[in-house]
Amino acid sequence: VSDGRDLLGQLRVEPGSPAGLKRRDTGARLGAANKAAGLERLDELVRRLGILHNRLAAEATRAVLLVLQGMDASGKDGTIRNVLTGINPQGCRVVSFREPTSSEAAHDYLWRVHAVCPARGEIAIFTRSHYEDVVAVRVRGLEPEEVWRRRYEHIRSFERMLTDEGTTVVKVFLHLSEDVQRTRLRERLENPEKRWKLRVADLDDRRHFEEYAAAYEDAIRETSTQAAPWYVVPADHNWVRNLAVGEILVATLERLDPRLPAPDPGLEGLEVS
Ligand code: AMP
Ligand code: MG
Repeated sequence: VSDGRDLLGQLRVEPGSPAGLKRRDTGARLGAANKAAGLERLDELVRRLGILHNRLAAEATRAVLLVLQGMDASGKDGTIRNVLTGINPQGCRVVSFREPTSSEAAHDYLWRVHAVCPARGEIAIFTRSHYEDVVAVRVRGLEPEEVWRRRYEHIRSFERMLTDEGTTVVKVFLHLSEDVQRTRLRERLENPEKRWKLRVADLDDRRHFEEYAAAYEDAIRETSTQAAPWYVVPADHNWVRNLAVGEILVATLERLDPRLPAPDPGLEGLEVS
C-alpha cells in the first residue's frame, strides 16, 4: 500500500481542476499489493479511527463531516458498514438524504442539511446530501438550469461557513463503472436479501448514467475547494473503496490532531480505594 498521503494526493481534486472522471480508473487498486494486504491495512485504519474519534469526542470543540456521494450501488452503505465499524456510535451520526418530504421541500434546499450537520465532537456521515440538489435535480429536470447552477456558489459558501466555524468537511465521490453498476443492480434484482434496495426509479436513473456522470463532473469541479475538497475514490472493488475512504478519514483526523482534555489536577497522587 502506498503512503497514505501520496494516495490522498492522487484522489483529491485540486480546486479549480476538472474532476476528470472519464480518465480516472474505477477499477484502480491504488498500489495495494493484493486484497489481503488491503484488508490488513483497513483493520489498522479502523482501529486508528476509533482512537481518533474518541479524542475528537473528548475534546468536543471541532466536528467532522464526511459526505458520500455516488451512483446507485456505488457502495455508500457498504463504506459506512466497513469503515466506521470501530467508531463509538455515541458521537457519530449517519444521515441518508432521500427525495425531500413536503416539509423539507417547503424550505430552501440547505435547510434540512444544516439541521443535521455534526455538533462539536461529532463525526457525521451523509449518504447523499445537498449535492443531490445539483445532480439529481439537474438530471431529472426538477429545476431549471438558472436555479441549480447558482447553487454551486451557495454550496461553496455554506461549506466555507461550516469550516470557518469548526467543522472539517470532506467529500467523497464513489466512482463506479457502468458495467459494475449493471452487475450490482442485477444482483439486487435477483437476490431476495437485496431486492428491497432496488426501485423502479433506479433503473430509470441507470439509463441516464452518462448525464449523471456529467453532472457530477461539473459539481465536483465547481465545489472542490481548499476548505472542503472532493476525493474521487475508485469503487469497482469494495475493498479498494473501503481502504481509500479509511485512509482519507484517518488522514483528515490526524491533521486535526484532537487532544484529550487535561485530567482533573486533583487526581494527582490519588488512589482508588
Ligand atoms: P437511496 O439513496 O437509495 O435511499 O435513494 C434516495 C433517492 O433520493 C435517490 O434517488 C436520490 O437521488 C434521491 N434524492 C435525494 N435527495 C434529493 C433531492 N434533494 N432532490 C431529488 N432527489 C433526491
Ligand atoms: Mg438506492
